[in-house]
Amino acid sequence: WRSADFTWANKLETYNRKVFGNHSFRPNQREVINATMSGHDVFVLMPTGGGKSLTYQLPALISPGITLVVSPLVSLIQDQIMHLLQANIPFAYLSANMEWVQQQEILRELLSDACKYKLLYVYPEKVAKSDILLRQLDALYSRESLARIVIDEAHCVSQWGHDFRPDYQGLGILKQKYPATPVLALTATATASVKEEDVVQALGLKNCIIFRQSFNRSNLWYSVVPKTKKCLDDIDNFIKENHFDECGIIYCLSRMDCEKVAEKLQECGHKASFYHGSMDPRQRSFVQQQWSKDEVNIICATVAFGMGINKPDVRFVIHHSLPKSIEGYHQECGRAGRDGLRSSCVLYYNYSDYIRVKAMLGQGVADQSAYTPGSRRNVVSTTDRILETNIENLLCMVNYCENDSECRRLLQLIHFGEKFNASDCQKTCDNCSKMLNSVARNVSGIARQLVDLVKLTGPQYSMAHIMEVYRGSLSMNVKKYRHDTLSLHGAGKHMPKGEASRILRHLVIKDILVEDVKKSDLYGTVSSILRINESKACKLYSGEQEIILRFCTTA
Ligand code: ADP
Repeated sequence: WRSADFTWANKLETYNRKVFGNHSFRPNQREVINATMSGHDVFVLMPTGGGKSLTYQLPALISPGITLVVSPLVSLIQDQIMHLLQANIPFAYLSANMEWVQQQEILRELLSDACKYKLLYVYPEKVAKSDILLRQLDALYSRESLARIVIDEAHCVSQWGHDFRPDYQGLGILKQKYPATPVLALTATATASVKEEDVVQALGLKNCIIFRQSFNRSNLWYSVVPKTKKCLDDIDNFIKENHFDECGIIYCLSRMDCEKVAEKLQECGHKASFYHGSMDPRQRSFVQQQWSKDEVNIICATVAFGMGINKPDVRFVIHHSLPKSIEGYHQECGRAGRDGLRSSCVLYYNYSDYIRVKAMLGQGVADQSAYTPGSRRNVVSTTDRILETNIENLLCMVNYCENDSECRRLLQLIHFGEKFNASDCQKTCDNCSKMLNSVARNVSGIARQLVDLVKLTGPQYSMAHIMEVYRGSLSMNVKKYRHDTLSLHGAGKHMPKGEASRILRHLVIKDILVEDVKKSDLYGTVSSILRINESKACKLYSGEQEIILRFCTTA
């Protein structure tokens, strides 16, 4: 697909330079354009910042007819709009909050002989719910004026991923209704669970050509830092020391966290603001514009901010709390350093965030199921499955954070099914740059003791309590439940602090112990209790499963 023999080859070069202001094509851009221009269905997996937009905007300009772009987020479309305006590319977009008259006008214009638009952006729910849009598309199609259908963030169609959107499942209708129009599906997310085949099948793509690109971003420096009570001071110091007056994003878990972190950073002299889903759309687009124009340097945001954010000079992405999955984390980090310059990705981690995020996931899925069509039984099983996947994804993230000895790039890339040699990291992650060695140790014996201890106490106690008993504490709580009389009280007192709790957390990650979260009071404070997953624990006792962890030793 690299060949320069295609009839449009010269046009591609000229438009890329003159309209988009680029000197050359980035990896795979030309190939994708040639494949879609040849009329094939194409699936593109390209990391964030790789330049996916050009692969449909350029063909849209040089093909007769209209290109339909289905895109999931307001922020994403707004960002595109700014760039299209800058490049003078005629487009329209249909949003839910648009006046009816205005929508009518756009739809009428689509069918006029001298239609001024080349691109039409719509939200996925628009495709599913708007008969009038489908009627116009029918008419365009029958006049052979529906040039191309672009599905942006195509991974949202997969139920197995962290971004699943029910509206995306309805998009298969487009290929059914318009089989002769080529579809271009774009995403920056693929994992062992979100498989290309799933997306290709759900969208009904035929003889699809797949372009897949490395997910390694060599200019990003990754680290995980323990999150303590002085986390906000740590963040302030980190920015002042490394990126003062530079541009960055701080991802937070909740609306309140966004506001709290932004306020603290403002007090410390940073030009910071916040962005989250509960703000009204005008407020949100105002903040986004301030950020684009460099009036604000730092945005403290929930993950609602960022899909499609096009700022090339984001110098740092900080995670104030645990991301929900490795894919999500990789994608959020990917918003840093799009200009190829060195940028930092720092994740502030503590285990209690895991409990918080897990509780939120349960709530989120329950809310989502209220809108899931189908019979009640289907709703329940789909809900369970989504929740299970979400928790698995979250545990992978916990595992990533807990790992203090293996290359962060390797840990991320394994997840995308990519082989990576850790020596190529060149010490650009915290684990590779530590002047420490690590050794692998079989800690199955300790793991069995911990499971035994949970058996002895019964399934009513928290991880912190089990740790206290194991390390021989004589605290009030330990004595109250007479756990100081248990045979395993103090069995782990000789171990370095932190080591036993890491093994205990690992047992949860491996699903040998299960942590049940419960809301303990009116204020929704969450706590958790440990119980044993018997089927998995059997394998630990029989020796079928061993627990091997790497521990650091000073060189
Ligand atoms: P993605 O959608 O893959 O995350 P974008 O399409 O938003 O990436 O592009 C990211 C940035 O790269 C944008 O600022 C865009 O203008 C720039 N870009 C895209 N293609 C090229 C190119 N061939 N040369 C230089 N810059 C490019």
